[in-house]
Amino acid sequence: MAKNGVHSFVIVDDDPTMAQAMEALLTKDGHKVTIITSGKEAMDQIPNIAPDCVLLDLMMPGIDGFSVVQKLTKDDRLANTRYIIVSAKAYEFDRQQAFRHGAHGYLIKPINPNTFTEQVIRILGDHMNLSFWGCRGTLPVPGEGSLRYGGNTSCVSIEFPRDELFIFDAGSGIKALSNHLMQQKRKRIDGKIFISHPHWDHINSLPFFVPLYMQGNEIEILGAQHGDLTMRQIASAQMEGVYFPITLKEFAARVYFRDLREEVLDIGNVTVSTMLLSHPGVCLGYRVDYGGRSICYITDNEMFLDDSEFYNPHYEAKLANFVRGCDVLITDSTYSDAEYVSKVGWGHSCISKVAKLAHAGDVKQLFLFHHDPDQTDDDIDVKLETTQKLLNDMGSSTKCIAPQEGNMFEL
Ligand SMILES: [Zn+2]
Ligand SMILES: [Zn+2]
Repeated sequence: MAKNGVHSFVIVDDDPTMAQAMEALLTKDGHKVTIITSGKEAMDQIPNIAPDCVLLDLMMPGIDGFSVVQKLTKDDRLANTRYIIVSAKAYEFDRQQAFRHGAHGYLIKPINPNTFTEQVIRILGDHMNLSFWGCRGTLPVPGEGSLRYGGNTSCVSIEFPRDELFIFDAGSGIKALSNHLMQQKRKRIDGKIFISHPHWDHINSLPFFVPLYMQGNEIEILGAQHGDLTMRQIASAQMEGVYFPITLKEFAARVYFRDLREEVLDIGNVTVSTMLLSHPGVCLGYRVDYGGRSICYITDNEMFLDDSEFYNPHYEAKLANFVRGCDVLITDSTYSDAEYVSKVGWGHSCISKVAKLAHAGDVKQLFLFHHDPDQTDDDIDVKLETTQKLLNDMGSSTKCIAPQEGNMFEL
């Protein structure tokens, strides 16, 4: 397989211009490429080449792409080879058909040179890309004290090998994500925005997410219903004339809304579970499971100190079970323990409780998130150091990280 991240590819395409365009992008990053121009030659030659990955056109004269995948996936010499269909056919039927025949990925032509190699590598590694666009809580904090961790409020994205885009919260960080997607000139965005709860810092920039205004995109906005208020009404209310000059009706993308409870959703081959959190109003935590890996997004959430009259051992055990064994726990770590003393009942947690949760839940990596707006980057450094020390003192194997705006992690 890959040495130093360098992969070997075979491109099978009867269109030489398309094959050369893909070759140029892959060789630019140091990968090795062989081009084959027919299905028949592909069947003959690929078993001897045994590449890491075959990029395969569907509509070729003679033997089509589906037949090539079906045949080659049965060849023992190609046990480690992955197959990505690259086709002009954008139909969902063909996509599903490709996966049924054993393909690992499906990319639509014309390829986007800004995202092509990243997509291919994500499919090859079968990994999720977890990105942070806003790590602060309560309100955005521009200025000198937030240059390293960033000053935007909650927004995190996950991209999957089959190209699903999940976004968690639409705080001011979603503007940077929107810019990123626009810079990449993506033709069609098919995404889901999971809202934890509709406090301002988690929804304030939803109207600035440009893909919502672009025809051809399909975006679902999911979150908990608040009494009689549906997710659609919540999103619509903040875009009423007195607050914002553009209404929901101006969205040009297909935008769907979905009201969630505590439940488990199967979205393709990704499972999303939800849990109601300890916070004023209705607030949902999310757990994403994909291919044996998991990411939990738990904000906003207050865990009361063990000697508090509000301490709820049942809730904390339930939450520890919810996050159990996850690879990444992104969670409300708003206060230092000293700060929390005067903020009891505000709906946020202090770091000693967060460390206990991560240890109790056997979490692999704890990501500190939703920082108080009065904390500077240096204060966050201290929280990080203190939390790691608390974990070490408990004999915990959990690693603690404070992600910065713009950070991307492969999982
Ligand atoms: Zn918040
Ligand atoms: Zn909140």
